[in-house]
Amino acid sequence: MAENIFPSKIEIGMDEDNKILPKLAYVEPYIGESISHYLGRLRRFKANSLPSGYSLGKIAGLGAVISRWEKLYFNPFPTQQELEALASVVGVNADRLTEMLPPKGMTMKPRPIRLCGACYAESPCHRFEWQFKDIMKCDGYAGRRHRHELRLLTKCINCETPFPIPADWIKGECPHCSLPFANMAKRQRRD
Ligand SMILES: [Zn+2]
Ligand SMILES: [Zn+2]
Repeated sequence: MAENIFPSKIEIGMDEDNKILPKLAYVEPYIGESISHYLGRLRRFKANSLPSGYSLGKIAGLGAVISRWEKLYFNPFPTQQELEALASVVGVNADRLTEMLPPKGMTMKPRPIRLCGACYAESPCHRFEWQFKDIMKCDGYAGRRHRHELRLLTKCINCETPFPIPADWIKGECPHCSLPFANMAKRQRRD
């Protein structure tokens, strides 16, 4: 790691017990949220306002690694050390961050970015399960009674623009035609 990677205005906070405090404002993760979606939300949270994955990577001392995770590129797989470094900055522990990653041994396809509009309507985030290699249908629950079993979308149902990386899901809508993701469930087939 290069020296002087910390911008000078960012100080490491200490409380009375000399425990290191997180440097950024805390953002609660959603259940099932992918790390890409979480990091984008965390960066844009007003008190944080970090313009890019790279700027967050600098604060965490992880350089370009954060940008790679935002693109859902996990090769090489995030190390415990990297997760601990991020954890100390965001105030979410490393085990919880690990839950935002695909389980080891599960093959994930980073592209195309997939979406279940029905899931998004229930909880507005990208779920990492949607990127599993052999998954074509959403396995998410609709209430407690049944699973969605809806075919996952890979592009906007209106203008056919592929979905951006989840870190860039700013408004939960197609960046090209503004159709809300939650409205896209109506075109998801159940075959
Ligand atoms: Zn779903
Ligand atoms: Zn569109």
